[in-house]
Amino acid sequence: MGKGPRHNRSVFIFKWWYPLAAAVLLALAALVQQSKSLHTNAPVQTPVLVIDAGHGGADGGASAADGTLESDINLDIALRLEALARFWGVQTVMTRTGPDIAYPSDADSIAAKKIADQHARVGLVNNTAGAVLLSIHQNNYPAASPHGIQVFFGPAAGSDALAELAQSNLTALLCPDNRRVASKADKGVYLMKNANCTAVLVECGFLSNPGDLAKLQDGGYREKLAAVLLGSYLQYIRGVAT
Ligand SMILES: [Zn+2]
Repeated sequence: MGKGPRHNRSVFIFKWWYPLAAAVLLALAALVQQSKSLHTNAPVQTPVLVIDAGHGGADGGASAADGTLESDINLDIALRLEALARFWGVQTVMTRTGPDIAYPSDADSIAAKKIADQHARVGLVNNTAGAVLLSIHQNNYPAASPHGIQVFFGPAAGSDALAELAQSNLTALLCPDNRRVASKADKGVYLMKNANCTAVLVECGFLSNPGDLAKLQDGGYREKLAAVLLGSYLQYIRGVAT
């Protein structure tokens, strides 16, 4: 208003949107770097990270002695992974984003619901061009002593390389005493058997082991899991894996 002094024109004034702009620039930088490295490799379909939070809806998966459900831990890690992936400019698809699952009306038993859900997930994965599937689960065992992270891989090309990379990163960064190695997924795991893209399944820990359970109940630890999984995916799609 009026002819007030303009002496503060050259003074830095913090605006609320500066951090937002910085975040956008960082994400753009990641995108540019990603597309550059993709161009230097063979021309391939833009990869899409399909994040599968195991179980959900009528299927809680494994449960810990204190009632903690595998499906809830899986979902939390999946949502953290999605948030980090988006920040880094990675295209993502989620098989579920909440605790509930919409089943077809004719699925009137838990078994029928589980089958319909598995078919729907396979359909989503196989209809996503450039899909790389990362399925998140928690392990369980009758005895309390088994613990640690293990990555399993499906039959499609690249699955074993991504699994070995993720296993190596997860072990080195989160559980250095882990002796588990990346292994072929059991044929009974429907999603892994039927996904026709690079696919890995991560058993992030044992709900039956008190040490693993305590870690998995900590949000900071779940964030680390998500970060290491995203880092492994980025290394894989940029060809650092080989
Ligand atoms: Zn599971």
